[in-house]
Amino acid sequence: MELKKYTEQFERLETPFYFYDIDLLKKTFAEAKLHVQTIQNSMLHLAMKANYNETILRYAQQAGFGIDAVSGGEILRADQLGFSHNKIVFAGVGKTDKEILIALDRDILCFNVESIDEIDVINNLAGKRGKNASLAIRINPNIDPHTHKNITTGLKENKFGIELEDLIPTILKVQNLPNVNYYGLHFHIGSQIMEYSCFVSLCHKINEIQDTLESLGIHTHSINIGGGLGVDYESPQEHPIPDFKGYFNIFKNNLKLRPGQTFHCELGRALTAQYGALISRVIFVKKARTKQFAILDAGFTDLIRPSLYQAHHKAINLTSNKPQETYDIVGPICETTDTFEENATLPQTQRGDLVALLSAGAYGHVMASQYNYRELIKEITSEQLKKS
Ligand SMILES: *Cc1c(COP(=O)(O)O)cnc(C)c1O
Repeated sequence: MELKKYTEQFERLETPFYFYDIDLLKKTFAEAKLHVQTIQNSMLHLAMKANYNETILRYAQQAGFGIDAVSGGEILRADQLGFSHNKIVFAGVGKTDKEILIALDRDILCFNVESIDEIDVINNLAGKRGKNASLAIRINPNIDPHTHKNITTGLKENKFGIELEDLIPTILKVQNLPNVNYYGLHFHIGSQIMEYSCFVSLCHKINEIQDTLESLGIHTHSINIGGGLGVDYESPQEHPIPDFKGYFNIFKNNLKLRPGQTFHCELGRALTAQYGALISRVIFVKKARTKQFAILDAGFTDLIRPSLYQAHHKAINLTSNKPQETYDIVGPICETTDTFEENATLPQTQRGDLVALLSAGAYGHVMASQYNYRELIKEITSEQLKKS
């Protein structure tokens, strides 16, 4: 992302804010689309929880992407922005009756179900509405994605999905209920996955499961492999677009889809992280005896990933070209965890400098809060800047 060309415009704006580079968004979406299309009957869903900015969603809709929703609110928003209902899938371990009804009333493509109780509730509510709901069963494949423990979702000890041992009885149960039908299988093993061998293991697991189901005469309409493709947080300028080619090739080469079967994939981070940056101003540079702090006007209320997951967002100073020095980059919130990076290298920094935290488009703005009664952080796109 070429941020420096916007520095003059940023200087005129109140900070902090999220900035989205729409040129890079377009390239990212085009690349993802190109490679997912090499797989038969494929549909790419944007995992909306990563970023629900209206402009981003509109471009996703234009690109033909579907939505992976994890709340009733996300389904409503997708609906309002014109996504076809038959491109919306709905996941989550704790769907409320209200949310299930929102989904039923819109005839979404399918529910990704995570427990037996949930299947009963959907069946009852669908009966009341005179509908038949399609269910994809989320399986916990017990694959370690070698990522941070707080974003691992496919291990036995995680709360997500149905254990593999329970799959066949669960499918038989669904087939015997009047208002639901068995539509497909759903997997999601974690997030920010950089080791492709995990995805290969997932393919092998799915192939085995499919062989078993086929031998029992059970027909599976769709395979949903979830999301999880990681992005390069350390060198975002060198890798502004995630490796969609390598990622989809793994599934093309290892996943044995059956004739007519549809392939679904739900990417959040990979479709949104790299064209977003958090732009902030340095309020003070505070020199202590052993270190110096660059205190930004952005804090964990604006970008919580470093505090929540020990995540690293590369910081760059947009307004200084001086020699490098070492800083702890921190926010203004009265909490010790309000630290973006310790011992970061930045060109010599002073009050008023603009500092950008890169790769902030995913799980950034959507997790912002008003703790300390701060203003909710705003979002600006490169298109809005061009107009002004
Ligand atoms: C969060 C989530 C995703 C997206 O994960 P990313 O790592 O952002 O790609 C996909 N599917 C489900 C079910 C999710 O909960």
